[in-house]
Amino acid sequence: MPNYLSVAIPTPLRKTFQYRHLDNTSVSIGSRVRVSFANRVVTGIVVGFDESPAIDPGRIKPVTKVLDESPLLPPAIFELCIKTARYYKHPIGEVFSTALPKLIRQGKDPAESETRLFLTSPGTRLDLESLHRAPARKALLRLLRAEASCSKQQLKETEITPHTIKAIIDLGWAEWRESDPVEGYEFSSVNYEGIIPSTGQQAVVDQISGNTGTCLLHGITGSGKTEVYLRVIEQHLRQGRQALVLVPEIGLTPQTVQRFSTRFDAPIAVMHSGLTDRERALAWLDARGGRAAIVLGTRSAIFTPLKKPGIIVVDEEHDVSFKQWEGLRYSARDLAVLRGKIEGIPVILGSATPAFESLHNANKNRYTLARLSERTPGAEMETYRLIDTNQTKLQEGFSKPLLKTMRDRLSAGEQVLVFINRRGFAPVIFCNQCQWIAQCRHCDSRLTYHLSQHILVCHHCGHQERKVTNCQACKATDLAPLGLGTQRIEQTLGQLFPDIPVIRVDRDTTRRKGAMAGFIDRVSSGKAAILVGTQLLAKGHHFPGITLVAILDIDAAFFSSDFKSLEKMGQLILQVGGRAGRAKKAGKVIIQTQFAGHPLLQTLINKGYTEFANDILAERKKMGLPPYYYHTLIRAESRDPLLAKTFLEQVADTSTASSAAPIPDINVLGPVPALMEKKANRFRQLLLLASQSRGRLHKELARKIERAESLPLAKKVNWAVDVDPIDLF
Ligand code: ADP
Ligand code: ZN
Ligand code: ZN
Repeated sequence: MPNYLSVAIPTPLRKTFQYRHLDNTSVSIGSRVRVSFANRVVTGIVVGFDESPAIDPGRIKPVTKVLDESPLLPPAIFELCIKTARYYKHPIGEVFSTALPKLIRQGKDPAESETRLFLTSPGTRLDLESLHRAPARKALLRLLRAEASCSKQQLKETEITPHTIKAIIDLGWAEWRESDPVEGYEFSSVNYEGIIPSTGQQAVVDQISGNTGTCLLHGITGSGKTEVYLRVIEQHLRQGRQALVLVPEIGLTPQTVQRFSTRFDAPIAVMHSGLTDRERALAWLDARGGRAAIVLGTRSAIFTPLKKPGIIVVDEEHDVSFKQWEGLRYSARDLAVLRGKIEGIPVILGSATPAFESLHNANKNRYTLARLSERTPGAEMETYRLIDTNQTKLQEGFSKPLLKTMRDRLSAGEQVLVFINRRGFAPVIFCNQCQWIAQCRHCDSRLTYHLSQHILVCHHCGHQERKVTNCQACKATDLAPLGLGTQRIEQTLGQLFPDIPVIRVDRDTTRRKGAMAGFIDRVSSGKAAILVGTQLLAKGHHFPGITLVAILDIDAAFFSSDFKSLEKMGQLILQVGGRAGRAKKAGKVIIQTQFAGHPLLQTLINKGYTEFANDILAERKKMGLPPYYYHTLIRAESRDPLLAKTFLEQVADTSTASSAAPIPDINVLGPVPALMEKKANRFRQLLLLASQSRGRLHKELARKIERAESLPLAKKVNWAVDVDPIDLF
């Protein structure tokens, strides 16, 4: 065994720590060890063996305890973590913290084995007919013969009493024993529910089968992408392999979990933020032990180890929730592609509106492209119509032609979806006398008026205050809510259509667990109704009764200084619009906008998403923006308005940089204020590094980080590295 171990410890320091190896214990790379660190005992992960000490050997402490003799993580996941740390320039110890469930990370594993009731050999030989006067005992023995063994939980679900169990144990017919964890899973039956793949679907399934590498599945909304995933996954399950499926949000898409569990009579481990620590650890162990056939999870599930990895699917791959916003700012979609390479297994990225960087990767033949360009049999395509709001008067946000179409559809007993991407009543409270606007005192942001509690809320820091009755600048009482939010639309529609139920779906109404499932049930009843909601409604729901989608406010995208705003707008329009006409009746989408003549909007609705993307990509190429240039950020924030800026100025300063020659072709921009400079009382600044060469960019970033770490201000500001940032907020 080696003399020294390099151990990754959960700290913000970008390094590992050396400990002396204990004689006569065995330890592997990837094992957990308990070590003392900064006067505490913590759990770390062994990442390397060293023959010689890095510092004075007298100061190197021994490991306190080895928790795993064999590695906790399969080599592929270990490698994934190491590469993640390197790519995102994040402390390796913190990467393991993100990757591992809390209990596992802390070294408190829930037992994998469990105590079960088994028959003894006398119990096995016993003639059951001899028990005709003890029906309860007979029933229990029959159950044990059928099941081989039973857990306490299983027994609780039967009518068998603890008294009966005790009796047969006393008679020597059964006993409690620890069972070894099973390996592998049972996969017996598939329920196709009468679905026969269309020629298009079958062609894509054939194209993907047997391929390794990444496939971008660009399938319009309602084209049956999930059916393709299910068919491909089935092939892997039949070989005894496991599938990892990532979705943006599980709580909001209960239909997804249901489709997997209906299709396969096989164990599914669902991993999401609502699990308890214990549930999460058990699901993780089931995945690692090969007992789960399918792991279905959100972003962080990308790190779940699989005993027999078969395939990874990332559904709605364009969704921004695959990117983590704090700490380790990774993209689960990008890590899925990396993991596929490490494990040598195929990856499917699916979307109706792929991220532009994914389309770019497909154009460059880094991914194979598969397309589904027709809706599933029986479902019609939706049609789009623009209403120019410069040409028509609006009544509480609605144009006459839109209201007329809504009325027609509703009186035909159909359903209408009204989309507005802002919750609350109105985004602004405005003084008609002096034009004062209610602002958050902690952020550069306006306060949104929420009608139900008569409060003003900041959607960026959560700050709340009672609604003011006087202007805080001129004391006038002439204050008006300006602009539209979901609550206001809900109120208006309630007045305009008093006989039609109006169902509002936004963060405020879906906070309660199971609320979304309740809404889906109500809508699925199929009666005339209006759904009002934010982008939560765009997330892969299937509402067959909706024949009209109204999109009220996309115009902000045309004013935004975020270079991705038009990409996001296009995705939102098609995702929300795609909720229309999923069944027999043709669906219609009406967009009200001041920019009806905008060439990109015209391209999107007349020529489709690919042309729209290509036009914007051509523009980005000219401007030197991603995906043609790679971006990385160093973000810094401080309570003092100047500190973060000064810190980044020092990081950027090359005049003092010692011997190292500058790396060519790197653009350094900033420090510049973040698009929202003040947030939650912190002033936020960015240093942007951009280059066409990812290799050189990462080299330069590493240097900048090294410099940042050496600065005294590094301890006074909050700073973080963001590789491939998705916005500049
Ligand atoms: P997408 O994810 O591409 O928007 P879905 O996979 O949700 O589309 O499919 C939409 C609907 O069509 C689902 O209700 C699904 O059960 C149904 N469906 C999928 N494929 C077929 C098929 N080949 N025949 C009939 N119905 C299908
Ligand atoms: Zn005023
Ligand atoms: Zn705020």
